[in-house]
Amino acid sequence: MDITSIMAQKQNLSTVQKIQDLWLALNQELSNMFDAHYVCAAVASEVAAHTATTTIVGISDPQRKFFDVWICHVDGKMKQERWVSEKASFAPFIDAAKATYIEKFDRPVAELIQSELWLHPREAILGVPLPFPATPQSISSPGVLCLVDPNQDCFLGGSDLEHIAAISTIFLDRAYLRHQVDRQEVEFAVISDISHTLTSTLSLENVFNQLSGTIRRTLNVESLSVGLREAITGDIIFVDFLMGPLFEQMPSIRLKKGQGVAGWVAENSEPVIINDTYADKRFYRRVDRQSGFTTHSMICIPLKVEARTIGILQAINRINGEFSQHDLRLLQAIGGPLAAAIENSRLHMDVLAEKRRIETIFAGMSEGMLTVNSEHLITNANEAMGALLQIAPDTLLGKPIKNIVKLQKGDMTSFIDGIGDDADEYPQIIGDIIRDKGETVPILISGAAVTDNNDIINEYILAFSDLTQIREVERMRDDFFQGIVHELRTPLATILMYARLLREGKARDEEKAVRFLGVIERESDRLQKMVRQMLLLAKQEAGELHRSPEPVALNAIFSEILPPFADQATEKGLTFIQRISSELPDVMGNVDTFELILKNLIENAIKYTPSGSVRINAKAVNESVQVKIADDGIGIPPQSMPNLFKRFYRTQTAVERGIAGTGLGLYMVKENVENFGGSIQVESSEGKGSTFTVLFPAIQG
Ligand code: ADP
Repeated sequence: MDITSIMAQKQNLSTVQKIQDLWLALNQELSNMFDAHYVCAAVASEVAAHTATTTIVGISDPQRKFFDVWICHVDGKMKQERWVSEKASFAPFIDAAKATYIEKFDRPVAELIQSELWLHPREAILGVPLPFPATPQSISSPGVLCLVDPNQDCFLGGSDLEHIAAISTIFLDRAYLRHQVDRQEVEFAVISDISHTLTSTLSLENVFNQLSGTIRRTLNVESLSVGLREAITGDIIFVDFLMGPLFEQMPSIRLKKGQGVAGWVAENSEPVIINDTYADKRFYRRVDRQSGFTTHSMICIPLKVEARTIGILQAINRINGEFSQHDLRLLQAIGGPLAAAIENSRLHMDVLAEKRRIETIFAGMSEGMLTVNSEHLITNANEAMGALLQIAPDTLLGKPIKNIVKLQKGDMTSFIDGIGDDADEYPQIIGDIIRDKGETVPILISGAAVTDNNDIINEYILAFSDLTQIREVERMRDDFFQGIVHELRTPLATILMYARLLREGKARDEEKAVRFLGVIERESDRLQKMVRQMLLLAKQEAGELHRSPEPVALNAIFSEILPPFADQATEKGLTFIQRISSELPDVMGNVDTFELILKNLIENAIKYTPSGSVRINAKAVNESVQVKIADDGIGIPPQSMPNLFKRFYRTQTAVERGIAGTGLGLYMVKENVENFGGSIQVESSEGKGSTFTVLFPAIQG
C-alpha cells in the first residue's frame, strides 16, 4: 500500500481499525513468504508504513555474533545492515522478554557512542524481543522489533507491538522450519548418496574422490581429511589421497599417539568442535607451518567400528560462520558409514592379500596339489599336478577326481571319505597312480578337509608327492650294497682260502708259503684300498666333500703329486713324461678334490700300462684348463665304454689280467669333475693305450 494514502486514511480510522489493517496487511504479505530475511524486511516495511514510524527489525545469526538488521523509514526507504552483536545494543530489549520503552538519554554515554541502534532515535525506542513470546518451542534466532521515536500518532502501544511480534514470530518460525526442512532434505540426500557410494565400492580412494566435494559443500568447509589410526602404535596417519586438496603437495602427515586434536579425538573417542583452533591447547601447529595453511576452525570426530576407533574424520575451516552442533551431527552421520567403508576396504585388502598368498603357495608347490568339493569334483589344480598326471591343469577343473586320479590299488573316493574321520589326524596313502598311457607313478597322497562355520566339510585339499626319485635312490642304495658285498667277497674268499692252506700245512716248502702269504698280503691290500675308497665314496655321497669352491692353482697340485708317480712309474719300468704349462690359470673347486681326480687318473694309467710310457699334459685351452693323461696300456674295449664311469664297473680285460681295483675311482672322478662344471672324455684302443681328457673351466681374468 502506498505510504501517503495510508497517512491520509490514518487520521480517520479508529486505533482498532488501524491495528486490524496492519494485521491484515501483515497476514497477506507474509502468507507466501518462507524466508526469514524476507519476513523481517516485510514486517519492518508494513509496520513503518502503517504506523508512520521508523521501524527496525533485527535478527541474529545462530551464534549471536551479529544481527542482520532492516531499517524502514516513514518514507518507505529500506536499508539492510549487519551489526556486530556488541554494537547492536539490542540486549536490553531481548532480555526484557516483553515490550519495553527505553529513552535514549537514559543510556550511558559510552553506550550511545558505540551503539548502532541508538544512532537512529532522537528520544526513545519501543522494542519487543523476537521470537515473542520466547518459548522453547520457537526455533527463530533471537532478534527485536523496534519502533523508533514513536509519537502520539503511533497507534501501537507496547502490548500491540507484542501482538505484532507474536504474529511475526509465527511467520519467522515457519520460515526457519522450511529452511530447516530444505536443508535437512539436502543433507539427507547427501548422506544417503554417501552411504550408497560407500557401500557400493571397496576402494577407499574412489570413495573419497567421489564424496569429498559433496561433503565439503554440504558442510560448507574448506577442507576435509581422514586420518587412520595405526593399530600397534596408535599414531594417526593422514593418508595422502584422503587429505583435502589443500594438502596435495605435502608429504604424508603422521601424528604421534594422542598428538594434536586428531590424536586427542582418537584417544578419547570423543568428537570436538573448535571454532578458534589457535586458542586450543590440543591443536598441533606444525601441520599449519608445513602446509602454509591456517586452520581457523575444525570439527573432528572419531571413526568407530563397534568399540574400536579406527581413525578420525575432520572438517576444517567453516566458510561463513562457525561450526555448530548441527554440523557435528551431520559429520557424524557421514562418519558412521565412512568408518564401515574403511573397515570393509581394509578387510577386503586383507582377504585379497591372503588369497594371493594361498594361490602363490598352491601354484608354487613342487608337490601336485588338488582341491575337490564335497561332491569330489576338482575345483583347483596346480602346475605340478598337471605335470604329474601329464594333463593340462585347466582341463581337470569340474571333473570327478575318481576319473582323473586312478590308483592301481584302492580308489580316491574311499580315501577322501576317510579324510573327515577324526580318528586319522594326518590321512595319507601310498599307492601307484595310473597315467593315461598306462604307466604308473609311485605316489604319497596326503589330504586335509576344509570346513565351514558349521563344521561341515565343503572342500578337500590333496597333496601328491611323487615317490619316483625316492624309489630310485632306494634302488641305487640297494645296488650299492649288493655291489660292495660282491666286491668284498672275492678278496675275502681268496685270503680265507690261502690262510686255510697255510694252516693245513699245504705250503710244503718255504717258497710256496711265501707265495701264499704274498697272495694274502696283496688281497688284504686290495681289501683295504677298497674299504678306503668306499669310505671316500660314502663321504662324497653324503655331501661331506662338497666344500664351497675357491680358486685353486693346479700348478701347485701337479708339483706335489707328480714326483711320487714319476718314481712309481720308473720303478715299474715305464717312461713318465710330464708337460705341464707353467702358468695354468686358476680353476674353481677345492684342492682335495682336484687331487682325488688327478691321482685316480694317473694311478690308473700306471696301473693298466705293463710297458711303454705314461704322459701327463696340462695347458690352457680357450677358457679352460685341459689335462690329458695318456698311456700305452691295455686299453678299454669299445663295448665297455658306456659303463666305464658306473659304480663298481671294471673291464673284463682288467679283471682277467688280475689287476686289482674296485671300479669306484672313475665314478668318483666323473662326479667331481662335473661338480666343478668340467667334463671328462676318454679315447682308447684295445691293447694300445688310453687317453683321458679332462676340461676344467678356468677363472676368467
Ligand atoms: P679300478 O679301481 O678298477 O681301477 P676305476 O673306476 O678307476 O676302478 O676304473 C674302472 C675300470 O676302468 C677299471 O677297472 C679298468 O677296467 C678301466 N680302466 C680305467 N682306467 C684305465 C686305463 N688307463 N687303461 C685301461 N683301462 C682302464
